[in-house]
Amino acid sequence: MKYSRERAASAEILRLALQKMASHPAAFTPPNYAVWYDYLTGINPALSEAMNNRLSSDTKLDDDTIEKFYAQYVSESGADVQQVLRKDIKQLLSKLAGFTAETDRQALHFGSSLQTYGDALKGSLGTEELDSLINTMADDTDKMRGSMQQLQAQLEASKQQVEKLNQELESARGEAVTDPLTGVLNRRGFEIRTQALFADEIAIAKGLCLLMIDIDHFKKINDTYGHLFGDKVISAVANTLKSKVKGQDAVARLGGEEFAVLLPETNLAGALVVAEHIRQSIESGKIRRVDGNDQIGGITISIGVAAHAKGGGLVELMNRADKALYVSKQSGRNRATVFGQ
Ligand code: GH3
Ligand code: MG
Ligand code: MG
Repeated sequence: MKYSRERAASAEILRLALQKMASHPAAFTPPNYAVWYDYLTGINPALSEAMNNRLSSDTKLDDDTIEKFYAQYVSESGADVQQVLRKDIKQLLSKLAGFTAETDRQALHFGSSLQTYGDALKGSLGTEELDSLINTMADDTDKMRGSMQQLQAQLEASKQQVEKLNQELESARGEAVTDPLTGVLNRRGFEIRTQALFADEIAIAKGLCLLMIDIDHFKKINDTYGHLFGDKVISAVANTLKSKVKGQDAVARLGGEEFAVLLPETNLAGALVVAEHIRQSIESGKIRRVDGNDQIGGITISIGVAAHAKGGGLVELMNRADKALYVSKQSGRNRATVFGQ
């Protein structure tokens, strides 16, 4: 089954899809809705990529474009998607097998060279012979190191491919990985995107931090300016988060007015700098009202910052960042707090 049957979530998607369709000239046909549905939920990565390319050039979607997207990306059966993914996974596996076989061959050669050197050392060698033996050993060791480094780089590249495939596979099951209002990851998408990171000791050794972010007094914003303006504030915060982080960082809306940002290759000091940039940028921003031209300022966020601790997972890291967020709220809001400091 391609589409989720969760009624409340699907109603939210319908509402947002209508808004999107209203801002483009294409007619309100079932294929038009299907295109926006797939796009807003992120369940169709190929369509999302094509749409993002089209939308970033600011073009309006007309009937021809919608029909083309529908035919090319949506009307395909789920079985086709599975087939493409299976082929991709098979290719990746055989590539990986190729890398490791080559390194195995070199390691075997290196092992037998070491054996030969060991045997040679048992005999009595003159200074010159010893010198030449050491040079050859150094050469061989260099070659082996080079081939290990190459394997490391190839594995690193494959790891990223595996993460992407993993996400596509999960998406093909039809459950949303994208938050329809903001376009950032939803909780499920965040878990899928980040799960490989927590199993990767090399990545963890480079530092891994999390920001938990919550909009201050959001209930009052809704009550004063209306729910639609509230939605605009949530979107604006998501856009600021996206603009303040790098490519490998993951931004997610965990629910309501709460966000998480995972920062790989970042230590606590670096994470606090990112958090402060985000906080200041929100504080100094203004958002236009839905019914008129008034600009509303004074919107702030509170942030909790935590670093990954050995042995813990995403949930544990979230808990600690959440505790730091609670301290930010308790000590006056509009601030970032580092866990344990
Ligand atoms: P605090 O500073 O302590 O975080 O206070 P707060 O008012 O932000 O926190 P609280 O959790 O009491 O209120 C969150 C509100 O967010 C309540 C809920 O109605 C609103 N909300 C949740 N999801 C959405 C949404 O998708 N859109 C809008 N506009 N409001 C939402
Ligand atoms: Mg909250
Ligand atoms: Mg709040």
